[in-house]
Amino acid sequence: MRKTVAIVGRPNVGKSALFNRLAGMNISIVHDLAGVTRDRITAECRRGPQVFNIMDTGGIGANTEDVLTEQVQVEAAIALDVADLLLFVVDVTAGITTIDESLALILRRTKKPVLLVANKADSEKRRMGTAEFTRMGFGDPAEVSAVHGHGINDLVTTIVETLDIAEEEPEDEQEKRRNARPLKLAIVGRPNAGKSSLVNAILGQERAIVSDVPGTTRDSLDVFCTFNGKNYQLIDTAGIRKQAKVDDQVEIFSIQRSYQAIKRADLCLLVIDCAGGAKMQDRKVAQMIVEENKPCILVMNKFDLFHPHAKQKDRIEELTEVMRREFFFLSYAPLIATSAKNSENIGKLFVQIENVRKGAQGRIGTGVLNRLMHETIENTPGPLGRSPQTFKLLYVTQVNETEDVAIPVPHFVMFANRAAKMTEGYLRFLESVIRKEWPAPGVPFRMSVRGKQ
Ligand code: GDP
Repeated sequence: MRKTVAIVGRPNVGKSALFNRLAGMNISIVHDLAGVTRDRITAECRRGPQVFNIMDTGGIGANTEDVLTEQVQVEAAIALDVADLLLFVVDVTAGITTIDESLALILRRTKKPVLLVANKADSEKRRMGTAEFTRMGFGDPAEVSAVHGHGINDLVTTIVETLDIAEEEPEDEQEKRRNARPLKLAIVGRPNAGKSSLVNAILGQERAIVSDVPGTTRDSLDVFCTFNGKNYQLIDTAGIRKQAKVDDQVEIFSIQRSYQAIKRADLCLLVIDCAGGAKMQDRKVAQMIVEENKPCILVMNKFDLFHPHAKQKDRIEELTEVMRREFFFLSYAPLIATSAKNSENIGKLFVQIENVRKGAQGRIGTGVLNRLMHETIENTPGPLGRSPQTFKLLYVTQVNETEDVAIPVPHFVMFANRAAKMTEGYLRFLESVIRKEWPAPGVPFRMSVRGKQ
């Protein structure tokens, strides 16, 4: 997980200027007036392959009177909780003030590593003044001039060394590595939905090259194949049953089998007999996919039997409406109508599979994400409106816990004050806002809140 560095300090020491320097761009206005409140902003600081997030804690001590009020302390505590390292900014032209001393106490209590930064060290004469800060107990300060750029390189080096920041593999390299392995597709659904027929239809296509050595597991048959030059591993839960010709009683285990296949998959193809309609068991399997946070495509099979005499456009519309209603909790999954029996739309299914894989690559930038969420909350507050009792979002970050899978599932963690007031429904709303920015079809988004209640 990417490291986060929080910039803290009393008003007017040059936190925003330092933030802009580190972010390498002018993205927030530097205010000359103390007490100008603004949102906490975040950005990425990149030096070659080393990347970390920076967070400007503008709100902390934005009002000199407020420096130690409960609200400020709670906010500070959460912001500080998020950070891996604190840059404690002081002003060489002002010397140590009482507010600096109060902040020093708070920062020491966080037990987080603190780097003392003496800003506005623009000239040799001013740099003479930095020695006094050593007595604050955070070691010798790093001398910088955020406005002129002096000392910034050294500061970044110190940050990288202190946090032991690893080199990030470039996005395209990551993508290449992920794509080199076969994509694991679980073919799941209730008996008779057409899973075996779908597997046969895939393997029977001219474009599919079936591997000579199918891997086998206890619960499913794994078939390796190449389609349009890409490698896939089909986890076929129906194959076993067909092969062993076991009786219906064993179907009790079909749910268990689906579960194992879902867990192993990069992407689940949930096969539904759309002519027969969605049944309890379809919903159960769908629920498992959601619970396991797995990417998914809804394969509406037996489309040839679905109102065969109606107009094509009406059929698709009707089917979409019915299935969206039945699987409302699986709204992230794209729909595709197939006829496995007639080998129809198999090529399209693979186009969709590749869309899902492609759409999941990359990430939404920390700065963009934070601005988007703060703006949204400002314009459309939660159930409690703008009441002081409502939550206060401090910071959002995207964590990909499973970086190294073919289709990474993003997890958005919101750090908030009065976190419990951020309801599940509201989180879903925020998810829909993120999706407008980054659609990622077929990929579930995990949303969670952390922070003080
Ligand atoms: P599984 O239990 O999910 O593997 O289902 P099968 O692949 O064995 O299919 C069950 C039955 O549905 C078989 O008789 C298939 O021929 C039939 N079937 C599968 N797909 C289609 C389809 O797209 N259209 C039609 N009309 N029949 C299908």
